[in-house]
Amino acid sequence: MVRAIVGANWGDEGKGKITDMLAEKSDIIIRFQGGSNAGHTIINDYGKFALHLLPSGVFYSHTTSIIGNGVALNIPYLVKEIRSLEEKGVPTPKILVSDRAQIMMPYHMLLDACEEARLAGRSFGSTKSGIAPFYSDKYAKIGFQVSELFGDPDELMDKVKNVCTLKNVLLEHLYHQPLLQPDEVFAELMEYKKMIAPYVCDVSAYLHEALKEGKNILLEGQLGSLKDPDHGIYPMVTSSSTLAAYGAIGAGIPPYEIKNITAVVKAYSSAVGAGAFVSEIFGDEANELRNRGGDGGEYGATTGRPRRMGWFDAVATRYGCRIQGATEVALTVLDVLGYLDEIPICVGYEYDGRVEKEFPVTSRLSKAKPVYKKLPGWKCEIRGIRSYDELPENCRNYINEIEKEIGVPITLVSNGPGRNEIIERTPLI
Ligand code: GDP
Repeated sequence: MVRAIVGANWGDEGKGKITDMLAEKSDIIIRFQGGSNAGHTIINDYGKFALHLLPSGVFYSHTTSIIGNGVALNIPYLVKEIRSLEEKGVPTPKILVSDRAQIMMPYHMLLDACEEARLAGRSFGSTKSGIAPFYSDKYAKIGFQVSELFGDPDELMDKVKNVCTLKNVLLEHLYHQPLLQPDEVFAELMEYKKMIAPYVCDVSAYLHEALKEGKNILLEGQLGSLKDPDHGIYPMVTSSSTLAAYGAIGAGIPPYEIKNITAVVKAYSSAVGAGAFVSEIFGDEANELRNRGGDGGEYGATTGRPRRMGWFDAVATRYGCRIQGATEVALTVLDVLGYLDEIPICVGYEYDGRVEKEFPVTSRLSKAKPVYKKLPGWKCEIRGIRSYDELPENCRNYINEIEKEIGVPITLVSNGPGRNEIIERTPLI
């Protein structure tokens, strides 16, 4: 059985925690898109970890962790992340890397940083991890696939020369940077070959066998629906699909094998990077939620940047769940809201005096004004509660209201960052 764990919002919904928790009963956990540009924060018996490239299932000795072909593979970063786990006493995880994954090159990161600097105030708020140049090259067919490291060196060198010719035009004339030297790029690739060799595998064939054996497989998404290049807030999106459907492609499995799509939904909103954010809040109200949010505040796991904050947006989340094809929802960080007297939920977008419920295309989004419904707060700490019935009534009402708005059954409620801080819930719909 394959289950996808994906974000229904802008990312940072707490997918890492849900994956880490569900990984206990899984055999294989796969990252299928994105790169080291976003982080999953996981707190378990070994300590607190911010994983960027490894799937969140690496902490169990019975699981196999896979980097699928859809991922932007930063090889030195991966090796560093594996070492950092070993240093903290985590048993050496079993890791496989798809021979069809493509390699993040240092010039992707350089070009990303140069372009952000060139755009200055008009930038996309990139993490400068090279993601956009990487995926551009993949689709322009000038990326390097892991398998090419193990092929004919002369063919590889020819390709390196071609890539350097193209990149050097930009580096010289647009960004005024030192030029790439083909010998150096080739040598770098040979270093990567040594580093990655122990992990390389035909992942699709491996998963084909695993599915035949009835193994439990988790697909772990990065970011969320609204950052998807097709269905998100283009162009303020990421460069690979964040949707569960892409899990089939980015891992190499048949789409019909994905039986369960768990959309992780945050009990309030947070976003990084630029782009319209209808239920955004500012000033002291935002600072308070930011400082109380997540585990130790809502600050980027990769960059440390303060996240933008907002109230729960039912319009965006309903759309986010729909586009993911969510079969169920895990509602996270609910404990954070216990300080509020009343909690606004954005239930509609207003344009020129008319209220709409459908999430619009980007050009309309920036003109939308939030329409709020206010629910009474529960004014107490809910961490430590393990059974749904023990949650305060106003808290259960808040969950019920969200479920009604998004129209997807909420089966899990997360009331703390730890692995065990989770409550199972019987949906009302
Ligand atoms: P991901 O990218 O979707 O995996 O999300 P993050 O790793 O950015 O998770 C957001 C933050 O929320 C992390 O610091 C988590 O430890 C924390 N977190 C996850 N679930 C909960 C929860 O239910 N309550 C609280 N307080 N923090 C949570």
